[in-house]
Amino acid sequence: MIPHNCDKILSKVFLALDGELTSEEEIFFLKEINQCEGCLEKYKIEKSFKEFLSMKVRKECCFETLAQNIRDKLHRNTSN
Ligand SMILES: [Zn+2]
Repeated sequence: MIPHNCDKILSKVFLALDGELTSEEEIFFLKEINQCEGCLEKYKIEKSFKEFLSMKVRKECCFETLAQNIRDKLHRNTSN
């Protein structure tokens, strides 16, 4: 058994989240993080942050429309 090394595992968190690990590496990675509360916690944080970011990206397309609406309103107000 290779001793658990937090730094080594955590350096792979982003690769794992981006799906850039080979399936063999992924199995090893998941096994390792599930053995260490610190690593698992960090992985969960990064995972929800990534999910949050992708949600934010989706929201931004709606935000654009909203911003355009506000701009239109402002324009109408100033031209009055
Ligand atoms: Zn660890």
